Amino acid sequence: AAKGSGPNSWRGYDPRLRAELARAAARRSGLDRALAEGSFELYYQPIVWLDDGDIGGFEALVRWPQPDGTIIMPDDFIPLAEATGQILPLGRWILRTATEQAARWNEARLAAGVAPVKISVNVSAHQLRDPGFPDEVGKALTDAGLDPAFLMVEATESALIDRAGQALANLRTLTQHGVGVSLDDFGTGYSSLSYLRDLPVSALKIDKAFVDGVPAEPRQTALVKGIIGIAKSLTLMVVAEGVETREQRRALQNMGADLGQGYLYARPMPVREASELMRAGRVKLPREAKTGADSA
Ligand code: C2E
Ligand code: MG
Ligand code: MG
Ligand code: MG
Repeated sequence: AAKGSGPNSWRGYDPRLRAELARAAARRSGLDRALAEGSFELYYQPIVWLDDGDIGGFEALVRWPQPDGTIIMPDDFIPLAEATGQILPLGRWILRTATEQAARWNEARLAAGVAPVKISVNVSAHQLRDPGFPDEVGKALTDAGLDPAFLMVEATESALIDRAGQALANLRTLTQHGVGVSLDDFGTGYSSLSYLRDLPVSALKIDKAFVDGVPAEPRQTALVKGIIGIAKSLTLMVVAEGVETREQRRALQNMGADLGQGYLYARPMPVREASELMRAGRVKLPREAKTGADSA
């Protein structure tokens, strides 16, 4: 945009910027409306034991369904909600909905004599830095009747960059109460190793960007192997994100990863399908196109 003469004169000059601002403003008020009307939905993606295909838990992933039947994905509204602070009420709804659902599932599983599942909930920087966050989590668990041991909070490294240290203090409080912490998208952020050293982390999720190269790319595979080695020596659980092929599953298992999540097993799905999948017990891998070569 060309600068004009007056102090604010550039403002009206860039139609693209104006359109973008207008879109953001519309989406922001759309978010407010959706919060008031309760029109968000949680999808659930299974997190599966690599060795036997048993379901260890689910990750809750938020969706914003639209009147026309399309769905707005989290990457297209979470950053905005984060910037405006709307993530606080949205995050509260997500936490309460996910813990209530997990409590319902585990009640049914207990009655059926099968092991409970864990629910993983993503939390963003804003939530993590809110001094009221641990209390909010505690209240959600109590109201839902869910044992803290079955909640995993997923935080990215970038969400933990916080000079005041409130995020860290919050995570410590949560782990003291038995809530698990997963380091999400591991390997894509900064100073990963110092986070591993300083944080009360119980699981590490290796980012899809690394998993993609397993086992075809030797350097990538070597990195993943190293990450798993470090995690295991710190007694962390290792979850591989974005597992899409049987070759990946087998290689990751051989390298010592515990759990996997990805399209090989299942895409994120609405609650009813997730309940059905769970009743089936374990996740069946899709039949192979050709036989012989791959015995995974
Ligand atoms: P994430 O926490 O790393 O979640 C994993 C993302 O990878 C999900 O995308 C999931 O659908 C996708 N994924 C899983 N397996 C595969 C695979 O095999 N192949 C491919 N290509 N993708 C796979 P989604 O649902 O679009 O979420 C994107 C990101 O948005 C999440 O990344 C998370 O950072 C954020 N997000 C989602 N739900 C929430 C939420 O409830 N609260 C907050 N604060 N953030 C959320
Ligand atoms: Mg996550
Ligand atoms: Mg992730
Ligand atoms: Mg990711």
